[in-house]
This record gives sequence, C-alpha cells and structure tokens, in this order.
Amino acid sequence: MYRRLIAPGALVASLLLAIPASAADYTPGASGIGDPYYPTYGNGGYDVSHYDLRLKYQPKTDLLEGTATILASSTQDLSRFNLDFGLTASEVRVNGKKASFTKSGVQELEVTPPAGLPKGTSFTVVVKYAGKPTDVKLWGFTSPQRTPDGAVFANEPESAAWWFPSNDHPLDKATYDVSVSVPDGTQAISNGTLQSQSSKLGWTRFNWRSSKPQATYLTTLAVGKFDITTDRTASGLPVVNAYSKDLGANEGAAKASVERTTEVAEWLESLYGPYPFEALGGYVPNVPSSFALETQTRPFYSPKQFANGSNVSVVVHELAHQWYGDSVSVDHWKDIWINEGFARYSQWLWSEKEGEGTAQELADYVYAQHPADDAFWTVKPGDPGAENQFDIAVYDRGALAIQALRNAVGEKDFFAILKGWPQRHAYGNAKVSDFVRYAESVSHKPLASLFDTWLYQPSKPASPALRSAGVAEQPASWRAIAATNGVHAQG
Ligand SMILES: [Zn+2]
Repeated sequence: MYRRLIAPGALVASLLLAIPASAADYTPGASGIGDPYYPTYGNGGYDVSHYDLRLKYQPKTDLLEGTATILASSTQDLSRFNLDFGLTASEVRVNGKKASFTKSGVQELEVTPPAGLPKGTSFTVVVKYAGKPTDVKLWGFTSPQRTPDGAVFANEPESAAWWFPSNDHPLDKATYDVSVSVPDGTQAISNGTLQSQSSKLGWTRFNWRSSKPQATYLTTLAVGKFDITTDRTASGLPVVNAYSKDLGANEGAAKASVERTTEVAEWLESLYGPYPFEALGGYVPNVPSSFALETQTRPFYSPKQFANGSNVSVVVHELAHQWYGDSVSVDHWKDIWINEGFARYSQWLWSEKEGEGTAQELADYVYAQHPADDAFWTVKPGDPGAENQFDIAVYDRGALAIQALRNAVGEKDFFAILKGWPQRHAYGNAKVSDFVRYAESVSHKPLASLFDTWLYQPSKPASPALRSAGVAEQPASWRAIAATNGVHAQG
C-alpha cells in the first residue's frame, strides 16, 4: 500500500542513484595495516580468522610447494586486497572463483576477486604456490635458514612471507592448521598439537594445529631429522620438544635446558596465571644463527644459546613471552616493550628465585654499568624506532622500568599487575599506554611520570625509584642472562 504512493519515475531514479554510489564505495584494501615502523606490513580491508597450510618440502632441493586456504572477512566494501608473500603464486581463487593477481612492492600480492566483497562478508582465499624459500630475498635479506637436513622458518618480525601468504602483522591473529609432507625419516615441527602423522609412497605428512589466536611471526616450521621427546604436564597439556640429531657438543646442554620447559612454565604460571595455550615445548635445530624466538607454544632456540653449557634463563625468556608477547601481543611494533621488557624481567625473577641475584641487584648492576653519556640511555624502550626495536636497551632499560614500578607500588600490587595483565588482554593486542593505565588502575597510584622517565626520556634517569646507584656487584646470574642478549638478533 505504501509503495503505491511512490511515483514509478521516482523509484527508478532512486535505484539508478543507489547502484553507482555503492559500486564507487568498493575500494582496494590498504597495502599496510597502519604500523608506523613498517608501513607496508600487514594489509587493510579484511581480517583473517584461520590459515590452513598444506605443504610439501624437499630438503634436498629446498623446494616448497603449497596450498594456503585463508578464511577471512571484509572490513570494508572491498574491490581488491593484498596478501604479504614472497614466493610465486600460480593460482588464486576467492570463494572458489579464479581471481586475478599481481605482485607489487617488496612482498605485496594484490588479489582482485571477480566481484567486489561487501563489508562484513566472510570469504575464502586459496593460493597455490611453489618456490625455494632460502633463494628469496625480501628487503635485502633471506629470513629462513637452511640446515644440513632441512630448513627453519622462525624470525621477527619478518618470517611468514617466505612460506605462506598472510596478513603479516600481529594485529591480525588467527588459528592455524599446518600440514607438511616431508621425505620419510624426516620430521616437520610446527606450533600447537600434532593431530596425526601418516606415511605414504616415501613421504610422511605431519598435521599440526594451533587452536588459539596466533600472530604470523609466531607461526613456525622446522623440517629436519630430530630427536623428539614427548610428555604431559601435571595439568595434562602435551609437551613436544625436538632437537636436531647433529647438535654435536651442544646437544647435552640444549636438552638440559629445554627439558626443563614444564618446570619453568609451572613457575611462570605462579606469577602470570594459567598457561594460555594448549601445548608446550621447544626445538633446537642445527642452524648457524645465535638467536632464540618465542614461536607460539614451541619456542625456537639456536644451538649457540647452549654453547657455554645449559642456559635455563633463555627458556625462561621465551616461555615468559607466551604470556607477554604471544597471548598479549603488540598493537604496533613500537609497543615491543610489552614483550621484551617483561621477558627480560622474568629472567631477573628467575635469578631471584634461584638465589643468583635479586631483580633489584640486577637492576642496580645494569644501572651502574651504563654511565650517563652511554648511548644506551638515548634509546627509548617505549618507542625505540624500527632500527632499535631489539636494542639491548629495550630489554635492560625496559626491565629497569619494571623494577622502578615494583619499588613504586610495592610487592602486593606489583605481582597483582603482572598476573592480571595477561588475563586483561588475553589473545589480543595492547599498547604501552594500556599497560601504564592498567598499572595505575590496580595500584591506585599515578604512574605516568615514572613510565615517562624510564621509557621515554632520552637520558639516564636519576634513580630515586631504584635503591642504590653506586658500584654494584655483578650478580651470579648475570653471565647467563647476558648470554641470551642475542635472542632476537637476525641470523
Ligand atoms: Zn624476547
């Protein structure tokens, strides 16, 4: 009845107006997610919920063949969108239909579906590809490492683009199924739980699942010949550790450290609350690098971390990241202190527990080690710049800031803050300023000035928040902690 009141001419005119207006609203997703340190990292216009990676890797030739199926939803009316990817795609489909695609920039794969995707649409992208990852240079370097019997994909922030197409930024976390076929006698290690493995015609397929949100750089793959140990924690979580069979003289120290994963995780639970993921472990492949990385549920350790004997401190660092960095991730990369400051401080707390120097003694020692004119004090842990993202100051000055907080709010509130934060932002992202506000809300103390002094001023703070500024003795744990300083240096 109401419609009859509209003149036919007016109805036609409104339709004509509506169609071109909505088509014009379909625009390309941005080529970056908006991170000021890395403007092209990640992409705009969509959000990924799940990656299904079905891969085949031949260690002899380094050839990786794969099909990536990506479940996503559009966050704008989308005419095309980018994935971050360095290998060569042979076919891309969106919702089952062939899409056109082209490479641009360093790592951008531009995908144009046959029809625009209205905002809020769930869609599926299938990318078929092949290539030799360690031959690929992006930004002038190669991220994965070859080993004598395979390869390892573990790096920060750049890793994923060498082995799967993604929205490559911690802001877009997703769940994963990683299925990898490798020659019989070789293993494929990834995150989460091993759902199954089976062998056929000379190839063995390993099916791994990560069922909690996971950042792209925390997604890892190692192919090689490993000694694998499995166990369960007291609370029933599966533990999988893997060690290259050719670690040589480092084998004993590597195992004596990483086999303590369950014990360290239990201790960290007492500080930070329940372990946030469904599995634990670690792996030590025979790589030439010297760093370690908090790859989700299963940290990566270079054998060099154990060259001087066992080093449980590096295990503490990478496991602390499961709460501080993996479950609660950076919002933008400038927020790296919410990862590294706390992973380093966890090492100090382990030292305190082991009777090898209190966190206060370590703080006093760090403070005394760096005179006022040391460049150390010019790095601002709260916003260090991309070039200093993994500078030692982010770790050590970052941990000093946390000791200053402890002294300002007292033991009870301090440990309540450490335990509450990973719950507050579980499986999400957070900024440095979010932490400051959270610490203020728990302690009922104004803390902006304290954090400004310790995280943002390019000069050595006076030390009212610390307890001594004089000559400090080297704590017993210092050398083991310093030996982990290369934890994120690119290999
Ligand atoms: Zn770290």
